[in-house]
Amino acid sequence: KLHNTILELKGNIRVFCRVRPLISDDAAGTETKVVYFPTTTETHGRGIDLLQNGQNHSFTFDKVFTPEASQELVFDDISQLIQSALDGYKVCIFAYGQTGSGKTYTMMGRPGTADEKGLIPRSLEQVFQTRKTLQLQGWKYEMQVSMLEIYNETIRDLLSYNRASSDAPRTENTGKQYAIKHDANGNTHVSDLTIVDVCSSKEVSFLLERASQSRSVGRTQMNEQSSRSHFVFTLRISGVNESTGHQVQGVLNLIDLAGSERLSKSWSTGDRLKETQAINKSLSSLSDVIFALARKEEYIPFQNSKLTYLLQPCLGGDSKTLMFVNVSSDPSSVGESLCSLRFAARVN
Ligand code: ADP
Ligand code: MG
Repeated sequence: KLHNTILELKGNIRVFCRVRPLISDDAAGTETKVVYFPTTTETHGRGIDLLQNGQNHSFTFDKVFTPEASQELVFDDISQLIQSALDGYKVCIFAYGQTGSGKTYTMMGRPGTADEKGLIPRSLEQVFQTRKTLQLQGWKYEMQVSMLEIYNETIRDLLSYNRASSDAPRTENTGKQYAIKHDANGNTHVSDLTIVDVCSSKEVSFLLERASQSRSVGRTQMNEQSSRSHFVFTLRISGVNESTGHQVQGVLNLIDLAGSERLSKSWSTGDRLKETQAINKSLSSLSDVIFALARKEEYIPFQNSKLTYLLQPCLGGDSKTLMFVNVSSDPSSVGESLCSLRFAARVN
């Protein structure tokens, strides 16, 4: 629309695959050969082959990042997409994959490091930096942030002061509804959700810190810190050019999805079983929606899950969607990796 930064997309949905390197936990007790073969020797190509039980499975995506790809390199490939939110587009970036595959590393990065910052902090720095430049051209921007999680198909506000403690009860009764409404202009309103005006990336970092403290974490046998909920970070951007009167309204949604691992692996029972079923339902709804959008089908099943309903105005139309499918190069994860690649290949 503006600023000449329109992405050249083949359609508005792209899928990037990112393979994480082996980490110390992986190596213990495995004699299996590495199963990941990039089809190029560079840090990113487009193909990935996965070898399972002597059988080779090939996939192609818009991009495949090998374990050597740095956070900086990955961000280089999405900074234009971030820019388009300032230009008035609605953008969604998802991280999909099993627990331990690198979703949070991709989105948030390694805490306390500068070069291993993930795409959320990098995006915010870019947004606020660009805002400064655009101010010189007469643009005035207002930014608002909200952060929520969807756990068992229920929305939770991560910026509400009542929930700032890490051991907030799972069944709090605050009387808050978090009802989702979309207005005629394509704006989404979630009742009772905390929305914070922000002026700098530092402020947002502070809010991210608070949100991560109030996120619910569960214990599975796979990963103590495994995230059983979807984390949705939303930056609303309204800009007006005071000399020309032009207005833009962009939205940047950055989503760290719940782990996609199948039931058997984490030996789920009881509450964990219910969680897993809710996760499976919303992940398959997301896949259905993106698949239907990619095929330009007439009916898009947004209503089948909270996540897809919440993001409805930001999926489809002239909005832009990027899905990271994160896979581990750990040989013992090959089954889950294959599932993730198949999921992503379907929406690709
Ligand atoms: P998830 O959020 O999918 O459960 P994490 O992002 O927590 O997975 O990653 C699991 C572990 O692997 C973490 O210790 C993380 O620091 C590490 N890791 C993930 N991706 C990379 C990467 N590209 N480079 C280095 N370490 C990584
Ligand atoms: Mg995580």
